Amino acid sequence: MSDMQKYPEAFAERMRALLPEDYNAFMRSLDGISPTSVRMNPAKKTDKFLEDESISWCAKGKYLNERPSFTFDPVFHAGAYYVQEASSMFLEEVWKQIDLPNQPLKVLDLCAAPGGKSTHLLSLMNHESFLVTNEVIPNRNKILQQNIIKWGNANCIITQNKPEDFAGLMNYFDVVLIDAPCSGEGLFRKDKNAIDEWSEKNVEMCSVRQKDIVKHASACLKPGGFLIYSTCTYEPVENDENIGYMESLGLKSYSIDNSKYPGIVKTKYGLQFYPHKVKGEGFYIAVLKKEGNGSHINPPVSNKKPLPLNKAFETYLNAPEKFIELKKNDFIFAIPTFMANDFSILEKRLYIRNAGILMGTMKGHDFLPAHDLALSNDINKNIAAVELSKEEAIIYLRCETPKIKSELRGWVLATHQGLNLGWMKLMPGRLNNYFPKDWRILKR
Ligand code: SAM
Repeated sequence: MSDMQKYPEAFAERMRALLPEDYNAFMRSLDGISPTSVRMNPAKKTDKFLEDESISWCAKGKYLNERPSFTFDPVFHAGAYYVQEASSMFLEEVWKQIDLPNQPLKVLDLCAAPGGKSTHLLSLMNHESFLVTNEVIPNRNKILQQNIIKWGNANCIITQNKPEDFAGLMNYFDVVLIDAPCSGEGLFRKDKNAIDEWSEKNVEMCSVRQKDIVKHASACLKPGGFLIYSTCTYEPVENDENIGYMESLGLKSYSIDNSKYPGIVKTKYGLQFYPHKVKGEGFYIAVLKKEGNGSHINPPVSNKKPLPLNKAFETYLNAPEKFIELKKNDFIFAIPTFMANDFSILEKRLYIRNAGILMGTMKGHDFLPAHDLALSNDINKNIAAVELSKEEAIIYLRCETPKIKSELRGWVLATHQGLNLGWMKLMPGRLNNYFPKDWRILKR
């Protein structure tokens, strides 16, 4: 089959113009196999993939020799790793190179679902910094919530807002990541739907939408703060030309050194990843710094006095003194104390879907612990647990009833290889499975 039949003719023409010398090598690489890669969660230890090849720009990134069935791996459901395409893990190198102040940071990931870059940022940020991870599309926001909950960091607020809703938070964030919706050419090898959806008109439409997103987002970035912009496409109108536009908004392009990584191509403003030159998919990343000095308008201090965490919930966390309690209807959240003021500021302007750790709900006098708590990195390590074999864990993850022998009674954690999978309630001769129904394994 010729390139012209497989890929839109206009795409082939554009790539020929962009890569006059290595067009053939590029096109051949689209027929190659897409490498499978994962990024390990530093907070959830496992000996999986230890022997697999490391990704040079990401300390916890691994290329897998073969694509296992992630669905049937309980360690995956425990949040011990995230399946992510390797080029996009270059975010880590960018994070290391930007000149961030040595203080707690406020970070925004504006276009966040399914959560690849947000979970990565959470692993890179220190625990006194927090992330606002936002996804405007409700169904995609649900997937984002699932992945953030699995990753287990409490220093995170999940919102569901349009970019313009952030413009009112003038000069608020230290770092804003815009992983923009794009024409998706870099995914052609991995996702054949991206080929069907491609058109020249769509490229133009994406470019206009990206500028619009950036315009709103740049207002909420502090002077001296960094805007990281990325796409998974090769189109200059969605990449370098947009960075040129951002320079007209008072942002200044910031160079990222790629000399340690042969194959990554430096463009006028950013870095371009091509599948015939790096072991990964098509990707573009660039950084801009907002002009002005490092000072910023401090958001007003909230006059609401935060409540300490109720004694009844203290036993569930490793360091309960580091949290305040927040009640929303029947739901009880533990919010890291250092985020309390920012939470009340953001709550007034944004639609918050989740924040900190959802501890559980009160049903009359009974406390029902939430799945979020089971997967949290802050859960008390001494909570009673029942270790499940792989077969038992799969039954549990299907929301069925594994046959286990245990003298324990009441709420216990189901674990596999020491990693929490969720809650069970044990009664004489009976087990209630509290794994969330809409997360269960359906595949047979
Ligand atoms: N950052 C994600 C990751 O690493 O997993 C991938 C983000 S994806 C490239 C872009 C996201 O932008 C999609 O989830 C999409 O729903 C969202 N999006 C679409 N239109 C948008 C808009 N007008 N403003 C903001 N986000 C939008």
